[in-house]
Amino acid sequence: MTIKKRLILSNIGMILIPVAAFFIIEVIIGYIMFVVLDGSPDGNDLNMFVTLRFVGLMIVLIITNGLLTYFVAKSIINPVKELSIAAKEISAGNLDFSIKPTGKDELGQLSETFEMMRQKLKEARDLQMRYDANRNELIASISHDLKTPMTSIKGYVKGVRDGVANTPEKMDRYMETIYTKANDMDHLIDELFMYSKLDLQQVPFHFERLNLKVFMDDFIEELQYELIETSGSVAYAVDSEESYLVKADREQLKRAVMNIIQNSLKYMDKAEKKIGVLLRAESGHVIVRIKDNGIGIPEEATSTIFDRFYRTDTSRNSSTGGSGLGLAIVKSIIEEHGGKVWAKSKLGEGTSVYFSLPKEDV
Ligand code: ADP
Repeated sequence: MTIKKRLILSNIGMILIPVAAFFIIEVIIGYIMFVVLDGSPDGNDLNMFVTLRFVGLMIVLIITNGLLTYFVAKSIINPVKELSIAAKEISAGNLDFSIKPTGKDELGQLSETFEMMRQKLKEARDLQMRYDANRNELIASISHDLKTPMTSIKGYVKGVRDGVANTPEKMDRYMETIYTKANDMDHLIDELFMYSKLDLQQVPFHFERLNLKVFMDDFIEELQYELIETSGSVAYAVDSEESYLVKADREQLKRAVMNIIQNSLKYMDKAEKKIGVLLRAESGHVIVRIKDNGIGIPEEATSTIFDRFYRTDTSRNSSTGGSGLGLAIVKSIIEEHGGKVWAKSKLGEGTSVYFSLPKEDV
């Protein structure tokens, strides 16, 4: 019942109850005095009757008013007290409790709104805490990954300075290593820059309607050319003659596909590097599968490889020297296109990375 209704009813009660009680008291006292006790309806007995009736009415008025005021006030004050305690807790930064609605009246609705506000504040605080934790983890990973090549560079430069590289061959080797390590750092900084821009949604995406089949045809042609030099081959297949029309940013999509293919070549232990690209259209989306015959990934890691800085080589010191950002960038780009990315793999046999993009109407 709303507070307004409760107040109206209590006011009506405060009038009707004493009126009804007045008649009942009059009848009862009259019956006792004049019928049971056989009093006379004039003189002293009548005066006594009037006095008793007045006293009775006063008692009824006090009790009715007192009780109704007490219950109505209690139904308003208690929830207000609870809300006040909740507000104090929130202002003190404690959000780990819940505010139970006290009823269906205006104060009950206020409690519900308060509870919603508490939940929203808690969500925002938890998100902020997650962001902080992520940022710390990010800083730790960046520092570690930049420190490793930097330490090498310092070591080799010191070697040159101290005259350890005392033959032209040694000097060449030292310089080559310094150059490679500086390149690694440069690549890592580029990827970091790209990843953080994607993360902050500062990369402008220029979407256009493009035929993914035509896009992949061109891409594979370029790739085949590059693979000749590294004794690799690429098998390309398109599943059906369906439409492969998608909405995509050419440049970013190319970056995503390149990252996946570069991994296929990087994590390769077979002499004959085989890459298979398959294009498949399903209802509502187009799926691209990029398969390799490389070292593979443990099954439990197939979803975590898309996390930033994740590398299956936990020592982070492998000769492949990746940043662990390549697939996080792929994920960001594909999700920005409204698609999904996932992987299947068998250790020793190879990996398939898939991504899907929503299909555009022809
Ligand atoms: P990285 O710069 O280390 O290559 P990525 O984000 O591109 O970072 O990949 C994350 C990790 O996933 C890699 O370190 C590697 O362990 C694993 N990985 C990715 N692609 C492949 C693949 N095709 N074959 C085997 N392992 C892969």
